[in-house]
Amino acid sequence: MKKEEQHTNWLDDFKLTHPLVIAGPCSAETEEQVLKIAHELKDSDVSIFRAGIWKPRTRPGGFEGVGAIGLKWLQKAKAQTGLLMAIEVANANHVKLAIEHDIDVLWIGARTTVNPFAVQEIADALNGTDKIVLVKNPVNPDLALWIGALERLENAGIKKIGAIHRGFSTYEKTKYRNNPEWQIAIDLQSRFPVLPLLCDPSHITGKRNLIQEVSQQALDLNYDGLMIETHIDPDNAWSDAAQQVTPATLKQIIKELRVRKVSDDADDFTKEMNKKRTQIDVFDTKIVEILGKRMMIAEEIGLLKKEKNVAILQNKRWNEVLNKMISEGENKGLSEEFILKLFKAIHQESISHQEKIINN
Ligand code: PEP
Ligand code: MN
Repeated sequence: MKKEEQHTNWLDDFKLTHPLVIAGPCSAETEEQVLKIAHELKDSDVSIFRAGIWKPRTRPGGFEGVGAIGLKWLQKAKAQTGLLMAIEVANANHVKLAIEHDIDVLWIGARTTVNPFAVQEIADALNGTDKIVLVKNPVNPDLALWIGALERLENAGIKKIGAIHRGFSTYEKTKYRNNPEWQIAIDLQSRFPVLPLLCDPSHITGKRNLIQEVSQQALDLNYDGLMIETHIDPDNAWSDAAQQVTPATLKQIIKELRVRKVSDDADDFTKEMNKKRTQIDVFDTKIVEILGKRMMIAEEIGLLKKEKNVAILQNKRWNEVLNKMISEGENKGLSEEFILKLFKAIHQESISHQEKIINN
C-alpha cells in the first residue's frame, strides 16, 4: 500500500468527537435479538451495528450462523434505528448478498485474511462499490499478510479501508484469548498513518472483564475506534458468550474511557505522552517476558550441566556472548558500558538459577 495519504479518510464523514464504536452481537441469532440490541444501542456513541451472519468456526459442530435470512433482520434494524450495518464476509457470494441487502460495512475475518485467494475474490466482488471494508489481522502474527490483504482491496479500487486489530493465536495459553502483540499494530500504524485502525478487545481478551483495560490501551496508542461484541443476554449467546457485554455495560465502558478526541495543545501533549508511555509499557512487558524465557533455558542448561557434572561458569562462552552483545548493542546505539552492566546482571541471574538446580 502506498504510504502517502491516498485514500479518503472515510472516518471524517462520521464527524465524531470520540472514537468510532462498532457494537452488536457476535452472531445474529433471531430477529428479535437483533432488533432488541440495535434499539439499545441507538442514541449512544455507537455508529455501526455489527452481527455475524456466517460464522467461521474453528471446529465443526459450533453454531455456523443463521445465513442470508439474517440480512433481512439487519435491514429492518437499520430502518428502525438509523445505525449503519456491518457483517463479516468470507467469499464473493457473501459480498453479493451483502450488497443486495444494503449492508454498509463489510469486514474480513481473521481466518480469511490469511488466505490471499479468498481476499482477492472478495476484493474483486467489491470492485466498483463504495462500501467501507475493514480487515482484521490474520490469525497468525504476520504483518505482511495483513498489509497484503489491505493492498488487494486498494488495488481493486476500494477507497474506504480500515484495519481491525483482534490479536493473534498462540499455542501457549496466555491471559488473552488472542495475544495482542501490540507492536505489530503499532508497526502497521507507523507505516500507514492515515489508515483508520480499530481495536477488537472482545476477540483479544475472550473475557468481558478485560475489555475495559484493553480498550483503554488501544486508545492510548491512538487507535481510531473499537469493535465490541454486545449482546442482550451475553451468557446465553450462541457464540462467544464469555466475551460479550450487555448494552448497559458497553455504555459504561465507553463512559469510563479516557483520552477522548478533543484537541487543545495541552491535550495533544498528554495524548502524545500517553501514547509513547503505552508503547514503552508494551516493550517493558516484552523485556521481562523474554528474560523469563531466557532464564528457563538457562535452567535447562543447568540440568544438563548437573547430569554431566560440569561447572556452571564457562568463561570462554561468557566472553563470546559479551563481545557479540557489545557489538550488536553498538549497532543499536547502546553504549558498551550499558551492555556490560545489563549482561552482567542477566548472567548473574542465570548463574543463580543454575546454582539452585545444581545444588538441590
Ligand atoms: C467475529 O468478529 O465474530 C469473528 C469471528 O472475529 P475474528 O475473525 O476476529 O475471529
Ligand atoms: Mn465473535
